[in-house]
Amino acid sequence: MEKKAEYIWYNGNLVKWQEANLHVLTYGLHYATGAFEGIRIYNGKPFKAEEHYKRFRQSAAVCKIDIPYSDNELIEATINLIHQNSLESGYIRPITWLNNQNLILSSPHTYCEIAIAAWPSFYNSGISGQKADPLNLTIAHWKKAPKNSFPNSHKTTASYMVHYLVKQSAVTDGFDDALILDQDNRITEASTSNFFIIKDNEIITPKAGDFLLGITRNTIIDIANDNGIKVSQKQITLQDLEKLKPDAAFLTGTAIEMRVIESISYSGKTIEFNTNNSLFNKLLHLFHGYVMQHSH
Ligand code: PMP
Repeated sequence: MEKKAEYIWYNGNLVKWQEANLHVLTYGLHYATGAFEGIRIYNGKPFKAEEHYKRFRQSAAVCKIDIPYSDNELIEATINLIHQNSLESGYIRPITWLNNQNLILSSPHTYCEIAIAAWPSFYNSGISGQKADPLNLTIAHWKKAPKNSFPNSHKTTASYMVHYLVKQSAVTDGFDDALILDQDNRITEASTSNFFIIKDNEIITPKAGDFLLGITRNTIIDIANDNGIKVSQKQITLQDLEKLKPDAAFLTGTAIEMRVIESISYSGKTIEFNTNNSLFNKLLHLFHGYVMQHSH
């Protein structure tokens, strides 16, 4: 079994892992009224904690959850949790959900519950020297819900029901993951990561739309801008990909960091990419340097 951290921060207190439990009638479990985050620990420190907790509060607000702790209190709790669990690397999962004394959907007596859990090992970090395998992707059968039907750009627990289905069917069909299209057939994101392509000396990523604007995505954009690498944010359809014939493509996210894509297959077609692209390699190197520099 995977190694577990000893403590979880739960509604303001550090409790033993096995004691951080919920009741089966928890309101948020039944009605998917929850929001969460994923934060990496590098060098014993949470990476980009301010950005993650800002997004956490925004996602919670979409579920009408008012978190009764300030961002600073949550960051302090996170730093203390890392310390108490003696973690140098790993992953942090803050989560908040609504609870209630009954199951009436419209009850006014809902209240916020909140926990911050730590995982000593979640995904191996590329930074620890592991060379990750290139990814083979497909296109999800599920599309993003129309803009006026779901809060697609927040990290709510509800959005992961579809992302779970997307990931499960991709894996069942022999792929690593799938890209999800929006209602206008534009590429949005993969199940837990953002999408980039490289053409000549430019990196291109879908412009803000019905998907989560990843903190890793922002980091890559900042790194590119700081290093004179051209970045564009634009709408990308599968037809655009076929016409543009990108040199390389990759996914970004807290858990997977930066992972190169080998192929995207759909409707009997396969688009292949160079998995040893020099601009990708340069960005990966710059990303590793950035992460190290920002976790001291
Ligand atoms: N999209 C989705 C659906 C995700 O779950 C994640 C992971 N949080 C991302 C994108 C990437 O976001 P980040 O870089 O902030 O981890």
